[in-house]
Amino acid sequence: MAVWKCQECGNAVEARCKPGKCKACGASKDKLVKEAPAQK
Ligand SMILES: [Zn+2]
Repeated sequence: MAVWKCQECGNAVEARCKPGKCKACGASKDKLVKEAPAQK
């Protein structure tokens, strides 16, 4: 499971695939960046 962080609002979304948009603020997917998990 990857964590996608919204650069607009800072909301983190946990999803296997990149979400189409931020659920919190509706920012487009290019605002979502993959966040490295704690362990590799
Ligand atoms: Zn957002």
